[in-house]
Amino acid sequence: MKDDNAQANGEEPPSGHRPRLLKEFHSAGRGFWHDVPEADWNDWRWQLKHRITTPEQLQRLMPTLTPEEFAGAKLANHKLALAITPYFFNLIDPADEHCPIRLQVIPRIEETHTASWEMSDPCGEDSHSPVPGLVHRYPDRVLFLVTDRCAAYCRYCTRSRLVSNASGYDFHPEFDRQIAYIAQHPEIRDVLLSGGDPLLLGDEKLENLLGRLRAIPHLEFLRIGSRIPTFLPQRITPELCAMLKKFHPLFMSIHSNHPRELTTEVRDALGRLADAGIPLGNQSVLLKHVNDDAEVMKAHVQKLLMCRVKPYYLYQCDLISGSAHLRASVRKGIEIMTQLRGHTTGYAVPQYVIDAPGGGGKVPINPEYVLSHNADRVLLRNYEGKLFEYPEAPDGTPLVEPPKEIEEPQLV
Ligand code: SF4
Repeated sequence: MKDDNAQANGEEPPSGHRPRLLKEFHSAGRGFWHDVPEADWNDWRWQLKHRITTPEQLQRLMPTLTPEEFAGAKLANHKLALAITPYFFNLIDPADEHCPIRLQVIPRIEETHTASWEMSDPCGEDSHSPVPGLVHRYPDRVLFLVTDRCAAYCRYCTRSRLVSNASGYDFHPEFDRQIAYIAQHPEIRDVLLSGGDPLLLGDEKLENLLGRLRAIPHLEFLRIGSRIPTFLPQRITPELCAMLKKFHPLFMSIHSNHPRELTTEVRDALGRLADAGIPLGNQSVLLKHVNDDAEVMKAHVQKLLMCRVKPYYLYQCDLISGSAHLRASVRKGIEIMTQLRGHTTGYAVPQYVIDAPGGGGKVPINPEYVLSHNADRVLLRNYEGKLFEYPEAPDGTPLVEPPKEIEEPQLV
């Protein structure tokens, strides 16, 4: 699927039309699966059962596979499994080697190239894990790993050491021990269910887990991190939504990186979650040739708002082994943030962060807006590059006199 009709005809869209075209909603369509009964296509278990998981399947469906991709697909199961749902596969443009959807899910041989600063556990999760499947890195919240399986596998996954079990990590969550640890730590008020993808659990199993967590009196807040709404929107059934709404306050962080992932199917699935009262945030990863472009990013965040999702974090890609070909620069990330802040709705602006390598947690990265700050003034730059002074109160003392006349500083 192309961004727009003009591109589908092999033409470039007229300049200025691209942002609008990027924000149009389209269905992923049925593609190779046009003769599959509607009921099967819309059944999330059918989608999972018919995922593309081998290089041969991939090549049959996409004869334009490059040698780098075929070689990567052959080796994929040594690092991170290859799996793509038929629904998501239909979003790939087989004619475009740089298709932003393709780059996210089709392995490449470059995944075997590892730089000395890359790591298998770049966020130091294993060293903050008091019991298997639980990461306790921040004081008042924990990460609860539910499964090592995902509907499809992102080639830049921070937990590629663990998910899919391709590299032999042999992950086994122990729900009893994970829940007991949380119950014994009253300082924990927030649990984030992640993995792998928690929404791969059946409704009954997930309900049981959420119920056990909700029974812990000091837990104020539950969260689910899931890429299912974009990889497999068929999973967001009315029954699932009805079950989830029993556990409020329950938030969900979805994961989407490019406006083309936000199809009519995804918009409808997100609408069902929002109608169930679930506040939705999105986490994106800054990826080279996928979304390292201010126009693409702006269209994406604006389209997320149209899907009732608040752009939450934009992550600098972690130093995960074999991901150099997908990592955009921090300079590019800051440039994109500069072109979002003030230039679009504040709700649409995510927080750009770097997860400090080795387990330092998320560090916010912002363009420079405070140019200097001393005892009596703050020098500010606004989104247009204009400079302003804000008079500062001496610490602990309210300002009782108007500040002396301030000269407008010259823009350098
Ligand atoms: S869905 Fe999440 S956990 Fe699964 S492969 Fe993608 S980034 Fe990793």
